[in-house]
Amino acid sequence: MTTLDSKIPSGALPEKWDKHLAHLRLVNPSNKRKYKIIIVGTGLAGASAAASLAELGYQVECFCFQDSPRRAHSIAAQGGINAAKNYPNDGDSVWRLFYDTIKGGDFRAREANVYRLAQISNNIIDQCVAQGVPFAREYSGYLANRSFGGAQVSRTFYARGQTGQQLLLGAYQALERQVGQGAVKMYARHEMLDVVLVDGHAKGIVARDLVTGEVKSYAADAVVLATGGYANVFYLSTNAKGCNVTAIHRAYKKGALLANLCYTQIHPTCIPVTGDYQSKLTLMSESLRNDGRVWVPKKKGDKRPPHEIPEEERDYFLERKYPSYGNLSPRDISSRSAKEVCDEGKGVGGSGLGVYLDFREAIERLGENVIRERYSNLFDMYAKITGENPYKVPMRIYPAPHYTMGGLWVDYNLMSNVPGLYVIGEANFSDHGANRLGASALMQGLADGYFVLPYTIGDYLAGLGMKNKVGADHAEFKKAEAGVTDMTRKFLSIKGKRTVDSIHRELGALMWEHCGMARSEASLKKALAAIPGIREEFWKNVNVLGGGEEPNQALERAGRVADFLEFAELLCFDALDRRESCGGHFRTEFQTTEGEAKRDDANFSYVAAWEFAGVGKEPVLHKEPLEFESVQLAVRSYK
Ligand SMILES: Cc1cc2nc3c(=O)[nH]c(=O)nc-3n(C[C@H](O)[C@H](O)[C@H](O)COP(=O)(O)OP(=O)(O)OC[C@H]3O[C@@H](n4cnc5c(N)ncnc54)[C@H](O)[C@@H]3O)c2cc1C
Repeated sequence: MTTLDSKIPSGALPEKWDKHLAHLRLVNPSNKRKYKIIIVGTGLAGASAAASLAELGYQVECFCFQDSPRRAHSIAAQGGINAAKNYPNDGDSVWRLFYDTIKGGDFRAREANVYRLAQISNNIIDQCVAQGVPFAREYSGYLANRSFGGAQVSRTFYARGQTGQQLLLGAYQALERQVGQGAVKMYARHEMLDVVLVDGHAKGIVARDLVTGEVKSYAADAVVLATGGYANVFYLSTNAKGCNVTAIHRAYKKGALLANLCYTQIHPTCIPVTGDYQSKLTLMSESLRNDGRVWVPKKKGDKRPPHEIPEEERDYFLERKYPSYGNLSPRDISSRSAKEVCDEGKGVGGSGLGVYLDFREAIERLGENVIRERYSNLFDMYAKITGENPYKVPMRIYPAPHYTMGGLWVDYNLMSNVPGLYVIGEANFSDHGANRLGASALMQGLADGYFVLPYTIGDYLAGLGMKNKVGADHAEFKKAEAGVTDMTRKFLSIKGKRTVDSIHRELGALMWEHCGMARSEASLKKALAAIPGIREEFWKNVNVLGGGEEPNQALERAGRVADFLEFAELLCFDALDRRESCGGHFRTEFQTTEGEAKRDDANFSYVAAWEFAGVGKEPVLHKEPLEFESVQLAVRSYK
């Protein structure tokens, strides 16, 4: 019987982490080099963890499927990273960042985790500045800040519209330094396809070399998954095309619990879909809403070009509905509001699924050069994709799948329910509750990798001692290798008529329609009825060209889509179970008369963690009650 122990330390909220640190067991320096830790993923979470653990003296083996660790999806992050430094002196504090994050997550995250995150946020900025990350600065030389949704202070540190890239270069250099010193062995172009448990403990992985096709086992004393999010279950999303669910899904099939999957973030500011040929969507960073104003024509079906629509005939709907936060209302709320006005027939652009993000007023006030300085790479990207000049014509934006708050369940130490299996960054479920605030994912990934895991993993290893070491020749590894090899052969042998992508697209469209920005019991039941059919079609009729002993992207995708086809069902079960609306999970049956999400704290104030029961079978639900000692549960209001 699986039991969920969150291991939240006792004591007052501000003291929990320090107290916990004082009690964690330590591994002495000369023993550290006797432990091997596998880290899967080299995004901000994985790279920062690998560099930090190697610096501490552990042997680290690090895996990613890209050709270089620095091509991890974190590189795409645009807008910024939060920290409670209060440099602008506008009233920020650790408490305020904590409270905004808890409230932003619609009171569905653990207090203790979120408070620790806010505390650590300031260390991250110091660490990154020391690495030379070129954060934007004021004329005086101080680091500059801007605002992101769900906050009334400016606490977001940024490097123009390339914050993820600059932070990742910092973490990557720290990682490469350790690679150079022989402390980290890097396996690029390797995909982890199974996690191996011996006597219930994670003892390694099976990975496939994506260049040669070789399937091989790697043994260790602990395994860390830093494998990112699963928004590509919707096929079209702002995530890189390669982002997938395989690592965490296969860990789930080995007994790790997947939690809160229905909390999917639909980002309000993406370039609208233009046709069936698209394989991904492009984000226009939330930072643009510092200066851009969101509006639609007041009249339904108004097809006049934007400059011909006079001021009094425009509906600045976020400013109207949420005067305190206006255009910087949180993502879930802003997305739903955009959908609402489009559903009313006021949407703009050819499809009617778009709203304007207009910089005219900011350009008049500040000058085009200031806007160019702040956002030029985003404006250039928009111009290249749409052929329109956003300095002259308002951008058109529409919500799209972007980030996933759910993931593998972890305790306060970031360990899953499987001993020795740690999960960090977007791959875990931990800190954002039902909705992540903008600029908080980078903060969480780096907090996990630089400042939490390096302490907590030592506690597990110290408890393990030097016993129970296993090699890659153990029977469990051989069994897992055989499973991976069989699956690869099977994909190649089906030789049906449909491409992997066409099936993925079909699944994504179904998920968007029935489990997207709005869900209901009826729509979720429809999705649950349809998914097994698509899965069957895949296993009967997919066509994977090429061979298994050469680079073969269709084969890589086949494995990932096979996992999405099982995982999607689980996501729908989670959404069906949660008979309330909160954050990124909007059930149409549970809304206020004003169309806002209606939580049910009495019955649903819990983390839903699911246990695998077999493919196509209903998973087993475990509940971790959420206890709030320091904040009062309140109706979330941004009005
Ligand atoms: C367009 C965009 C802009 C964003 N902007 C911001 C922002 O401004 N601020 C903010 O806070 N957040 C932002 N986010 C969110 C943020 O970028 C991500 O949540 C974060 O970067 C995830 O980091 P990660 O380290 O957890 O995972 P990732 O960066 O996704 O890295 C995953 C790693 O795991 C590896 N991997 C995965 N599966 C396997 C496997 N089976 N085998 C081997 N390796 C594997 C990959 O190779 C990769 O190295 C943005 C997201 C998007 C999509």
